[in-house]
Amino acid sequence: KISEQHDKVFATGCLPIDPDGPKGPRANAAFVVLARNKELDGVIQSLKSIERHFNRWWHYPYVFLNDGDFDDDFIDTVKNYTSAPVEFGKIDSSMWGFPDWVDHDVAKEGIRKQGDAAIMYGGMESYHHMCRFYSGFFYKHPLLLKYEWYWRLEPEINDPFMKMIEANKTYGFTIAVKELRETVPNIFRYASAYKRKNKLPSKGLWEMFIERPEGGPPPQEEKKQEPLPEEILQTDPANNNLEDIDPESMEGESYNMCHFWSNFEIARLDWFRSKEYEDFFNMMDRSGGFWMERWGDAPIHSLAAGALLAPSDIHYFRDFGYRHTTIQHCPANAPARQLTRIPYLEKTTEDEKKRIEEDEYWATPDAVKENGVGCRCR
Ligand code: GDP
Ligand code: MN
Repeated sequence: KISEQHDKVFATGCLPIDPDGPKGPRANAAFVVLARNKELDGVIQSLKSIERHFNRWWHYPYVFLNDGDFDDDFIDTVKNYTSAPVEFGKIDSSMWGFPDWVDHDVAKEGIRKQGDAAIMYGGMESYHHMCRFYSGFFYKHPLLLKYEWYWRLEPEINDPFMKMIEANKTYGFTIAVKELRETVPNIFRYASAYKRKNKLPSKGLWEMFIERPEGGPPPQEEKKQEPLPEEILQTDPANNNLEDIDPESMEGESYNMCHFWSNFEIARLDWFRSKEYEDFFNMMDRSGGFWMERWGDAPIHSLAAGALLAPSDIHYFRDFGYRHTTIQHCPANAPARQLTRIPYLEKTTEDEKKRIEEDEYWATPDAVKENGVGCRCR
């Protein structure tokens, strides 16, 4: 039934990769890379990533294009990083630069004005030529005529694992949303108890997950919550960590239901294997919440991160488009992206710029409470 309704990959799961390469039909396709000699390092970075994750099995050819001549160093180095066929082509003046029918002085003056107006890339003549080439010519380039499909690559695309390692991150997400309250009515009492029992100082991320009524006592509804049945807490008295904890006292904090949506998740396994996480899981597990309530792994991961990690340990993959069931993250709509657009409008404050650079914008509790991070495309 499933196979009738779904694409093969959904019916059969991930297909194992045959070390000799995929046996199925292949597209008449190539990678297209427009680049300059000076971008060699970025090109190699992109090439390594695409080879390692895809093309070392597929061996789709590459076509490198340049408005100048690629030098021998560029050509030899690129060939070293792939066993796929590679071609290097020059873009001639029929496809690059000002055409005859435009007054070059007028065009240059137009570009100069955009530069003066601080329009992003506006004052850069080569960028205008690049955009025009990719708009109206690349598909007519002699080296591409034999292909039916192309996959455009650029220098400096990144491997998310290496990005996480380089930036010393522990946990990465692309969407954070609010949990359905009825699935986790008591989860926060235990997470909060864990944090206090182990006297964990907040490293800042905790703030993302809590609400605190200004000065006042916890909201009434939090107080009214029924404690989990005693039998559950005593299934294993030797390990019953809750003995000394007053579950009603959460220092006035309550859970705002925010959590990283864990169906997309890139994280260090050694964090989950750490003693701290193990203790956290065991305590949550002993409470019976996985049966007596319907705790999801997403709020569990998130509250553990809140208790154990700092905002700087987290990476928001704001530039990854991702969709699963009804919720999607469209990079163009993410709050942080909207913020990064502001520079084009020249309104960004120095403080905002710094936060964007430091990748902290997502973690401001106000932004998360207002929008969630990751939202429906509007
Ligand atoms: P951005 O992604 O909009 O910031 O623009 P990029 O600077 O990355 O340029 C887009 C693509 O065009 C990249 O693959 C660049 O290597 C390439 N590119 C941009 N300008 C030129 C140019 O003047 N000559 C050549 N050969 N490639 C260029
Ligand atoms: Mn680019």
